[in-house]
This record gives sequence, C-alpha cells and structure tokens, in this order.
Amino acid sequence: MLDFHTHDLKPNSVFNLIIGKDQVPESGYFTAGIHPWFFENIEQQFAELKQISQHKKCIAIGECGLDKLKGADIKIQIEVFKNHLQLAETMSKPLIIHCVKAHNDLLEIKKKSGSTMPWVVHGFNQNPTIALRLIDHGFYFSLGKSLLHTESNSCKVLNQIPPERLFLETDSADVTIEEVYKAASERLQLPLQQLVANLQDNFRILFKIND
Ligand SMILES: [Zn+2]
Repeated sequence: MLDFHTHDLKPNSVFNLIIGKDQVPESGYFTAGIHPWFFENIEQQFAELKQISQHKKCIAIGECGLDKLKGADIKIQIEVFKNHLQLAETMSKPLIIHCVKAHNDLLEIKKKSGSTMPWVVHGFNQNPTIALRLIDHGFYFSLGKSLLHTESNSCKVLNQIPPERLFLETDSADVTIEEVYKAASERLQLPLQQLVANLQDNFRILFKIND
C-alpha cells in the first residue's frame, strides 16, 4: 500500500523532504520543497531546492503552499509558492501542496499560472464546495487520517473525487497506511486489493514511472 505523503523513511512511500530540515534519502522516491512552516533563509533554501530537484529520485516539487494559520506572512508565502510552481514547470514535475484556509488564493494562483503540471493537494479534508471547485480545476487529492472519522469532510468528498486523481497518505500521523486504505475501501465500496492496485497505477501515471 503506497503511502503518498510521509515524513518518515519507509518502504513503498513517498518521502517529503523539507529543505532546511532533511537530507536526500539513500533510497526511495522523494519530493522536495520549502514547507510554509519552515522558512529560514529563503534564497539559500531555494538554491538548495533547485539543486536537489535535479536528483533522479526527486519526483515532485513540494510540499509547498499556503497556510493562513501558521508560518510567514501570507504575502511572502504566496511569493515562495509561485517560485515552487515555476520550478515544477521548468523541471516538468508535479507539485505537492499544503493548503490551510487558503483555497481561494490557491485557485486564483492556479488560474493565472498557466501551469501544465499536475497539482496535488495533500492532507485534503475540505467541504464538498471547495472539493468541487478544485476538481473542476484539475487538482489531484491525497487523503489521510481524517478518513477514519466517518463525519469528516474527506469522507463526504471521497466519492466525488475522480478515481484517477486520488491518493492516500499518513503524513506521519499516528495512523497506519493500512488503516487509511481500509477506511477508503469501505467508503468507496471497492475491494481493498482493487484500491491498492488503482492507486499504484495512479502513482505510476502521475510520475511517469515504468518499473
Ligand atoms: Zn507533510
């Protein structure tokens, strides 16, 4: 069961390297970005990101994004996010997005960006209205531990997400990836093995991985 977004090093998962905190892992696929909570010396961090993004196992740019509850001033976050999306375009790699209370800003940026790369909102747990708007604008979604709570937004929107744009993750939370898949499989009324296979396919297609 592929864990699409984690900060732990473990098999069959995508390690999210935070620039300024983490090192390039010895094995496995990873993504790299400047997390909005961890801005330090942005210019230096961005130079490091550019370098690391050339690594052949670096399959996406992020997580990066917008957080109105935590981190730097939102104007600065928006600038840094725009730099990430440009890098994603230059490198032809998808973008992994952290978004808290800033989905309107995110949509506006996407509309104006002319971006051609897939944008994946990770840890998605928003209401059906926001979900539909993001679906309409081509976003991909990674859902996590909120699926274990039957009243959560992610449970409400899971069936609306186009199956080819869905991923599941732990985000290093206190849940196992098995629990997340099991909850999703029940909610989708899809056999667990089928779901596992579908999300592996989504992974290979999104990142153009052929092995
Ligand atoms: Zn994360």
